[in-house]
Amino acid sequence: MIKKLFAKIFTPKSKKTEPAHAEKSQPSRTTLNAKKPVQKNHADKNHGAAVISHKTHKIDRNLLSNAALKTTEGLQKAGFTAYIVGGAVRDLVLDYPPKDFDVATDATPEDVNRIFRRSRIIGKRFRLVHVLFGDETIEVSTFRGSHLETSKDAKVNDSGRILRDNVFGSIVEDAVRRDFTANALYYDPATQEVLDFHNGYADIKAGILRMIGDPLTRYQEDPVRMLRAVRLSAKLGLKIEAKTEAPIAKNADLLQDVPPSRLFDEMLKLFLSGHAIESVAALREQHLHHGLLPMLDVVLEQPMGERFVMMALQNTDDRILSGKSANPSFLFACLLWHEMLAAWEVYKAEGQHAIPALHNAMSEVIATQAEKLAIHNRYTATMKEIWGLQPRFEQRAGKRPFGLLTHPRYRAGYDFLLLRCESGELPMELGEWWTAFAEADGDARVAMLQADTEPKKRKKRNRKKPSGANAGNATNA
Ligand code: ATP
Ligand code: MG
Repeated sequence: MIKKLFAKIFTPKSKKTEPAHAEKSQPSRTTLNAKKPVQKNHADKNHGAAVISHKTHKIDRNLLSNAALKTTEGLQKAGFTAYIVGGAVRDLVLDYPPKDFDVATDATPEDVNRIFRRSRIIGKRFRLVHVLFGDETIEVSTFRGSHLETSKDAKVNDSGRILRDNVFGSIVEDAVRRDFTANALYYDPATQEVLDFHNGYADIKAGILRMIGDPLTRYQEDPVRMLRAVRLSAKLGLKIEAKTEAPIAKNADLLQDVPPSRLFDEMLKLFLSGHAIESVAALREQHLHHGLLPMLDVVLEQPMGERFVMMALQNTDDRILSGKSANPSFLFACLLWHEMLAAWEVYKAEGQHAIPALHNAMSEVIATQAEKLAIHNRYTATMKEIWGLQPRFEQRAGKRPFGLLTHPRYRAGYDFLLLRCESGELPMELGEWWTAFAEADGDARVAMLQADTEPKKRKKRNRKKPSGANAGNATNA
């Protein structure tokens, strides 16, 4: 179904982009509360880009968010240029609803901040402005200049990686700095024209993901671009162009330099792209998983866990593609489950009781991964809860199953249990029992309970209280 959709989208009706001329005049701009930008190229207002008209690209304006429209309108009214850029335009050309909108402008962050009351300047490495409209945030960036200029605002390390880069520039320079040609399109909602500096429109229509500039240099500048190539090609069904693909496998080591938190963010995007299965397969093919992305490395190299992980990824893809949300904690709990099981066994073999051993194993696995991949704390707490519930699903006698049903994480724990059953780790019968138990009503539930075979806990005898002690406060463990 998806493949057919892509085939339909990519059947080129016309591969030609139009010559660099504007079909409509720019909207009139009024100067409101901000200064006019100093540098403007009036000789060629499209800066040498090919201009693709609405007649050709047919972007559906209904797919644009109001917030993005208000942002470009606000900036243009104040006398600046402003375009929707990046992945949003690429997705619009593919007729997908973009998941977020970025805007690029010649206004400085301070200008943007002044124009929009509900906005804030963020970031150190890249200074951006977040403009807030209700739930939606539009990220506005000032056109970036070349990082190669010697300036205190740009810095490159020994291996060519860009460390800091806050040099403002022209739209032409901004386009050169973007990663793939498909990501360097600038859409002006007012004129409905797309400016195309690197033939990205034709590449998208031809189903190609192509790096702008020399691919190896671009990967050295920012190794995460290798992961982006794999993720975007899987997500969009674009084929990585040969020269763009060639350096990846050979330069997988470059990822070791990337800060763990950035790797984590990119991995999360990959897992939640709706195409995790294809992405993971492609990462393996490009040797990007080995020793570089610790979580994947761990996960894919244990045959026991592979089936479970693949099922979890499939489950996540299905949810995302059918418009449901997927909880990252659940996914990471799945990815590390077999690692956790192995650690649990070790602690039990050392003679620890099951539950303390479980807690030690959970902490150990999370600590190891957090060190390498910086899993945020907000995820690890839920992961522990989901794992911690698992032994409780094996208790089907007495009051315990009733208690579990009311646990706030019951649903996540139950879904996790079902995956364990489906992967063959546990008998299917256990999952089916819980499904039936949750659906049954009062008496039927009681009838389903199993005989309590657990040894009865011995009641501690109350020591005789010294006279005057409050007997009502005495509790039995
Ligand atoms: P997604 O659909 O996942 O959001 P995206 O391409 O929009 O994909 P973002 O991280 O939102 O990804 O980035 C927005 C734009 O910023 C990109 O389209 C690209 O033009 C530029 N960009 C992002 N990351 C890089 C990078 N590492 N190097 C160069 N340009 C980048
Ligand atoms: Mg994006």
